[in-house]
Amino acid sequence: MNSSRLQVEEYKKGILSGNRVMLARAITLVESTLPDDQNLAGEILDVIIPYTGNSLRIGITGSPGVGKSTFIESFGKTITESGKKIAVLTVDPSSQITRGSILGDKTRMEELGKNPMAFIRTTPSGQTLGGIAGHTRETILLCEAAGFEIIVIETVGVGQSEFSVKSMVDFFLLLMLAGSGDDLQGIKKGIIEMADAMAVTKADGENIKRANATMADFQQALHLLQPQSSGWTPKVVTCSAIHSKGIVDIWNMIQQFKKEMESSHLFEINRQNQQSFWFDEHFQTLLAMDHLKFPSVQSKRDALKTLVQTKKISARKAAQDLLDKYHQAVSSKR
Ligand code: GDP
Repeated sequence: MNSSRLQVEEYKKGILSGNRVMLARAITLVESTLPDDQNLAGEILDVIIPYTGNSLRIGITGSPGVGKSTFIESFGKTITESGKKIAVLTVDPSSQITRGSILGDKTRMEELGKNPMAFIRTTPSGQTLGGIAGHTRETILLCEAAGFEIIVIETVGVGQSEFSVKSMVDFFLLLMLAGSGDDLQGIKKGIIEMADAMAVTKADGENIKRANATMADFQQALHLLQPQSSGWTPKVVTCSAIHSKGIVDIWNMIQQFKKEMESSHLFEINRQNQQSFWFDEHFQTLLAMDHLKFPSVQSKRDALKTLVQTKKISARKAAQDLLDKYHQAVSSKR
């Protein structure tokens, strides 16, 4: 380990005492692709793990412009005024697709950013989605160890990111905008099925009527879906973040959800399932990356690929040959 590096114990002490600079540094290590940083991040996670899990994890998704950051600003104010600390982790998968950011460069959540009870962090762009998911999970753990009681994971409702966010939260909130394509036809069905609640945003001024109509449409549609196995009936509400309308109600609803899930032990069961999913996924990632250590396996893969492309060999046979080659490489290393 680099001697100039803060030692694991110092990180632990800093994070557990709620030191934001140490928290931010630890997150940077988690996000780093450098092997030394990754090793140190792993050691830090190992020592903080007993202090994790004690938060309510809330996923918030919605199309660009639906009002996510304005909502989280207002929601965050409600949380901090109730005496709780909130961390907001933003997953922005757009940059790898467009090389720009859907979230934009504008200052988001300016007020919340200045609040000592809040911590805001955006996952850097340019990583693979699998990577973002892994880093975000570990960042959740670090924030929990640092004493954040509410963790919001914000994602843009494009691509697959909301599916991976669903796998790391207790409650999933979908924000929708009336008359914007976020109607029953426009919205991805899979997303509706994942949502524990849907909130139609910007229900103020001339938009109230439209927002109420959209809410009614979705309430209707929910009746057609299978009820959740947890027994929770997803709720559809309206809100106006700018006028702080409906925000406290949403917070109360989320607390009610937690209470119900805890009393049926489903809260804990869901967490355990997520933990084993993370473990399986991480192991698969390690396994998939392991062959990269062996140049002979990589050149075999390139050669086999050509054979598959020119139909000299079936993809199935080629994959088996490559696995055999990998096994050989591993055993000759031992
Ligand atoms: P995001 O891209 O989903 O994070 O959306 P923003 O929070 O940046 O909001 C997009 C635009 O909608 C901004 O111009 C906001 O001022 C506006 N907006 C957000 N919430 C509300 C609301 O409750 N009412 C109204 N009228 N406008 C809102």
